[in-house]
Amino acid sequence: MESLEPALDDSSRPPRPDVDVVVVGAGITGIYQLYRACEAGFSARLIEAGGGVGGTWYWNRYPQARFDSESYTYAYLFSKELFHEWEWQEHFSSQPEIERYLNYVVDRFDLRDHIQLDTKVTSAVFDESSGTWTVGASDGTELRTHYLIAATGILSVPNFPNVPGREDFRGESHHTGLWPTTPIDFAGKRVAVVGTGASGVQLIPAIVDEVASLTVYQRTPNWCTPLNNSPITPDEQAQLKANFESMRDTLNTSQSGFLHGPHDRATFDDSKEERWAFYETIWNSLGFAKLISNYTDMLMNKDANAEWCEFIAEKIRSIVQDPEIADKLIPKDHGYAGKRPPFVTGYYEAYNLPHVSLVDLTETPMERVTETGIETAEGLREFDIIAWATGFDFGTGALNRMGVRGRGGLALEKYWADGPSTFLGLMTHGFPNLFFPGGPHGATGNNPRYSGDQADFIHDALLSARQHGYSTIEAPAAAEEEWTTMVDTYGAKATFTEASYFFGSNVPGKPIKYLLNPGGRPKLFKVMAEVVGNGYQGFMS
Ligand SMILES: Cc1cc2nc3c(=O)[nH]c(=O)nc-3n(C[C@H](O)[C@H](O)[C@H](O)COP(=O)(O)OP(=O)(O)OC[C@H]3O[C@@H](n4cnc5c(N)ncnc54)[C@H](O)[C@@H]3O)c2cc1C
Repeated sequence: MESLEPALDDSSRPPRPDVDVVVVGAGITGIYQLYRACEAGFSARLIEAGGGVGGTWYWNRYPQARFDSESYTYAYLFSKELFHEWEWQEHFSSQPEIERYLNYVVDRFDLRDHIQLDTKVTSAVFDESSGTWTVGASDGTELRTHYLIAATGILSVPNFPNVPGREDFRGESHHTGLWPTTPIDFAGKRVAVVGTGASGVQLIPAIVDEVASLTVYQRTPNWCTPLNNSPITPDEQAQLKANFESMRDTLNTSQSGFLHGPHDRATFDDSKEERWAFYETIWNSLGFAKLISNYTDMLMNKDANAEWCEFIAEKIRSIVQDPEIADKLIPKDHGYAGKRPPFVTGYYEAYNLPHVSLVDLTETPMERVTETGIETAEGLREFDIIAWATGFDFGTGALNRMGVRGRGGLALEKYWADGPSTFLGLMTHGFPNLFFPGGPHGATGNNPRYSGDQADFIHDALLSARQHGYSTIEAPAAAEEEWTTMVDTYGAKATFTEASYFFGSNVPGKPIKYLLNPGGRPKLFKVMAEVVGNGYQGFMS
């Protein structure tokens, strides 16, 4: 019998997505976002450019790459069982253990089948009729998804200095953020390390005893203080497990996502003698306590900051035997936390070894890389290995390179040409159903804590849209403007100076814009609670 129904024209139907959620990036943020999506019954795929999971901890495998956050404060807190199963070996674990942990999590929660490695997302195009994204990748993969979650990292695009001849070098040349999976043999080699930021100062002492010679090329020195790492003792392991719930509560609510508490006094409440005794305690404290548990006015009061810097400068002079080298290692252009302060183990001590030399690039700029070495105004030095510890295109680097096209074909990198414009550092107007946890304007302290807050917010929004039958989630323009104005206004007053990569100033041509969240987690919590409390009014359709 012939049907009386009118024939359905397939071309008029909006295309159906292949999956509900595509996550890009298998770092600590993306893995968590995938876990939550799968747990809630969304169909989900994670796409990762690297050959393994771990993100930062897959790519940065240089010797002694390690946490500056305490291992147990950085780790996932969503599963008490997981926390009990994984015993971190050190207060600040190193890359191999962190990579093992993230692989363990992927297998423990059956996520591996959802993960596609060695695949770089090169385009993501929004279709207005269906509210979906078509994601294109390097291997020809094309996938239509309802939600696109770009957990592509803030420090995932390595940056090289603009020096001619870099490709000409015939020896081995590696960026710390693109370190090969096969170990590098440094024994007896003439080695150059370019850069003395957080990665360079970890690498230098790690290889110094193996190499024949080590030449450090320094653009600007940083205020380095000891990490004070140590193995976690069996007693400490037991305490960590026993106190899991209270530790999690503290970490989930603290301003910066660390356990370190604030001090109770301002700098000049104490006499000089008391100050120096306190600084000695702080010098011997763990990692970021130097920032968080220091005198209450250290970051905001110039004189207070200068006192702490004077103490560190004294320490540098007492460790480094050659007064001229010591002087070159003491920052002159910024106070403590004017740039991201690195934490070190044996860094300053390395300069006392006879085969280590320091080239100050402000005095003798790098002119070119040749087939055999590096040439500065003082001449050519020949090397077997050059390690580029020259940082990253922070915050926007990966997102601006992903070929993201929103409403009306709007290119994300054009929309952000003058710097990013975001709501909560995780959404941007004109790009519906796109989220970027751990992206620009969000960062504030211990990374997994705030990027986890963002991932939870995204997840709850997806659940709410599913429950109420909405197909589109988009930040209203006014909400985005308010958040971005907050970032720009308070960013201008931040302790970090424009010379910091937190303003993007390390990448030539990049707009100088603050890329962190100066409101911290309290601001993030407040605005998130308002959006949820208002039933996502204005965000869903
Ligand atoms: C050496 C080093 C040490 C650090 N130590 C600390 C620390 O102690 N504490 C702290 O809080 N933070 C630290 N950080 C910051 C660190 O980046 C974050 O802690 C965290 O790893 C970020 O996780 P993520 O998942 O958001 O991003 P990432 O770990 O950077 O992962 C992003 C992933 O996305 C992938 N990706 C990007 N673009 C694409 C694309 N187009 N297609 C496919 N895949 C893509 C990348 O390959 C990468 O694997 C450190 C960073 C570095 C470099």
